[in-house]
Amino acid sequence: RPELSLSTLAGQAPAELDAYWMPFTANRQFKAAPRLLVRAEGMYYHDVDDRPILDGAAGLWCCNAGHARPRIVQAIQQQAATLDFAPPFQMGSPLPFVLAQRLAALAPASLNHVFFTNSGSEAVDTAMKIALAYHRLRGEGHRTRFIGREKAYHGVGFGGMSIGGLPNNRKTFGPLLPGSDFLRHTLDLERNAFSPGLPRHGAELAEDLERLIALHDASTIAAVFVEPIAGSAGVILPAPGYLQRLREICDQHGILLVFDEVITGFGRVGHAFAAQRFGVTPDLLTLAKGLTNGAVPMGAVLASDAIHGAFMQGPTAAIEFFHGYTYSGHPLACAAALAALDTYAEEHLFERALELGDYWQERLHSLRGLPHVVDIRNFGLIGAVELMPRKDAPGARGYEVFERSFRDGQLLVRCTGDVIALSPPLILERSHIDRIVDVLGEMIRATG
Ligand code: PLP
Repeated sequence: RPELSLSTLAGQAPAELDAYWMPFTANRQFKAAPRLLVRAEGMYYHDVDDRPILDGAAGLWCCNAGHARPRIVQAIQQQAATLDFAPPFQMGSPLPFVLAQRLAALAPASLNHVFFTNSGSEAVDTAMKIALAYHRLRGEGHRTRFIGREKAYHGVGFGGMSIGGLPNNRKTFGPLLPGSDFLRHTLDLERNAFSPGLPRHGAELAEDLERLIALHDASTIAAVFVEPIAGSAGVILPAPGYLQRLREICDQHGILLVFDEVITGFGRVGHAFAAQRFGVTPDLLTLAKGLTNGAVPMGAVLASDAIHGAFMQGPTAAIEFFHGYTYSGHPLACAAALAALDTYAEEHLFERALELGDYWQERLHSLRGLPHVVDIRNFGLIGAVELMPRKDAPGARGYEVFERSFRDGQLLVRCTGDVIALSPPLILERSHIDRIVDVLGEMIRATG
């Protein structure tokens, strides 16, 4: 019985670990002491020894409604049995249309058009191509330069890498897309360490865009890409007014503003999207992760009426945008996404980050004063505890806290360098917050 053997295989440690080349992982270190998750439900994973592991990371910023939610499971199962795949080029199937409509209704008013991808990286590269094509369609094909930001993460495609600001992700891969430049990042421990919520200082960093415009001339710049809150660099928050100012400067100079909301989308900060929480509407908005609650890979780009309208000109028989993926709008992903949106709505999960935000903040900041803790940051249901790097071993302390948390504390967190990042499923209760903070505190003390 093939099903039996597959489920047995999925529940036990594999006999051989060598063939699988793991992503963003220290392969040899991992394979010497694997951390294997075999099932999940609600707030918990179970590891290969059947220990419950509290999920403090929503997997990887994905599972905002927690794990194995029945609606989503059933939707995927039924869809797989009904229509497993449909070609998306010059053909269609119903669900991508339905899902696009639902997303447009959730999004800020002007973002009414949705291009589907399979990941956040693809969403970013797609948004870059939309921006270039949009300017060209309007006779401004000279706008080819992108502005990213130091410490940004926009995935691993050549486009996203070119505007990403994490040196390890870039340095190996050659010159990347020519012409990109970078805003300064907004992390400022000296002025803002241990700020509850948004940091007070740093709105003026948006003026850095004026510097880049003066250097390159606005007529060469297609778009500015920012994560409203940077996640992968270790949770970097904007000061109030920063994003508004970027919006103003972009408007003054005909530059598109793109929000990469791959981690901030779907309730993480108390609204469907951070754009709404911060009251700033971008021209393009990239999504992934929580879109399907992580259950099936999917990404998307939301585009404004103005941008979409620029494409919908010319002969109706002409393909307007020479771009797309075999799996754009995949039926299984659409089914998972629609069920995830239903689950978020039924359980009012987008509001939970607002309801629990104060308690989350208070409990997280109780870790202040523990050894080597140099900053604590929080917003919505996002948290970060930054540790002082060990001399000559950056990242070692953070990794040890992460590893101990899993092994001894039965808690999944994420470490990027010496920052412990937290992004629990939005279904969590106060008791889960207590446990996350208590375990993390214990592991930080034990790590030393
Ligand atoms: N953009 C942001 C802001 C992200 O945080 C990520 C992933 O963490 C990505 C893009 C890339 O998404 P994916 O890993 O689905 O390609």
